[in-house]
Amino acid sequence: MRALVIEDYGPLREAVSTALRGAGFAVDASGDGREGDWFADGGTHDIVVLDLGLPGMDGLELLRRLRARGSQAHVLIVTARDQVEDRCAGLDAGADDYLVKPFAVPELLARVRALLRRAYQRKDPVLRIRDLEIDTARRLARRAGRDLDLTPREFALLQFLALRAGETVPREDIRAHLYDFRSDNGSNVIDVYIGYLRRKIDGDGQERLLHTRRGHGWILGDAP
Ligand code: CA
Repeated sequence: MRALVIEDYGPLREAVSTALRGAGFAVDASGDGREGDWFADGGTHDIVVLDLGLPGMDGLELLRRLRARGSQAHVLIVTARDQVEDRCAGLDAGADDYLVKPFAVPELLARVRALLRRAYQRKDPVLRIRDLEIDTARRLARRAGRDLDLTPREFALLQFLALRAGETVPREDIRAHLYDFRSDNGSNVIDVYIGYLRRKIDGDGQERLLHTRRGHGWILGDAP
């Protein structure tokens, strides 16, 4: 999952970005409305954490532009503006949720997880594919009752594939959603992580759940 954090107060931008990275997100961050708008124009962020008072372009204006371009990103506004009319203006401009500063980072992460579930039309935080269970709230995966020891990046890849279980997920989608602008996303990185993940989920001579569609991508679970 990929997030964009647009917040001009450096320490808060860093704290939110670090927390999201810790939760397995690829994160792009900006402290300026215009630059943030440019990042958002890439169209590959699942979540945008958006401050309203920003240099360059106000957050509400940025949000209106984002929606006018047809972006489906889930937007969580974080701002010190706590009047009812400010909250309404944010939601009416196309925000999905609203958090008033100061807030606790765990609450922000919980709201981000809730937005992602909404994005993929899931209410249950646990994704199940046959005997594979992925608990997106506790960030644990288990196959046939056995805990899988996954790194944050492997977990993020598994979650991304699981949210699209039964569909072929192209390499370009994985690259766009799991890697940010600063990460090393050279051509074979994704194959390497798929290899690690396959060994961990399908390793014990179990029925295969992660399938390769050569030249197209990967499918978790049964093909349609
Ligand atoms: Ca601000």
